[in-house]
Amino acid sequence: MSHDPNCIFCKIIAGQIPSKKVYEDEDLLAFHDIHPWAPVHVLIIPKLHIASMVELTEEHVTLLGRMSVLAPRLMKELGVSNGFRTVINTGPDGGQEVYHLHMHAMGGPRPWLKG
Ligand code: 5GP
Ligand code: ZN
Repeated sequence: MSHDPNCIFCKIIAGQIPSKKVYEDEDLLAFHDIHPWAPVHVLIIPKLHIASMVELTEEHVTLLGRMSVLAPRLMKELGVSNGFRTVINTGPDGGQEVYHLHMHAMGGPRPWLKG
């Protein structure tokens, strides 16, 4: 399934739910987390509906690589200059709440709310 009509992040991609976008291209979208843990907290997601890292296959290698390369670029563009944290939560014990693959990228001066 490339799009799940019940998925909140698919709805954000489709523009059915508003978001504060920071980056968009054909394959990826990045937007500010609605409940930021850090002064700067964005989510980088593939436009393809992939529920979690468990679903990843070899065909997604480039997509994941592009998400990883985008994180430092966005942190820099958003003024983060002293390091940042990237997190991908997977499954119930991994603390995943939204089942559409996403990379958290968090930065800015500490203390942070979480993380
Ligand atoms: P997870 O625990 O699945 O790794 O993280 C999901 C993240 O998505 C949480 O940090 C949560 O604040 C964020 N989130 C959930 N719903 C929305 C939404 O509708 N809009 C935005 N911008 N972020 C959301
Ligand atoms: Zn989705």
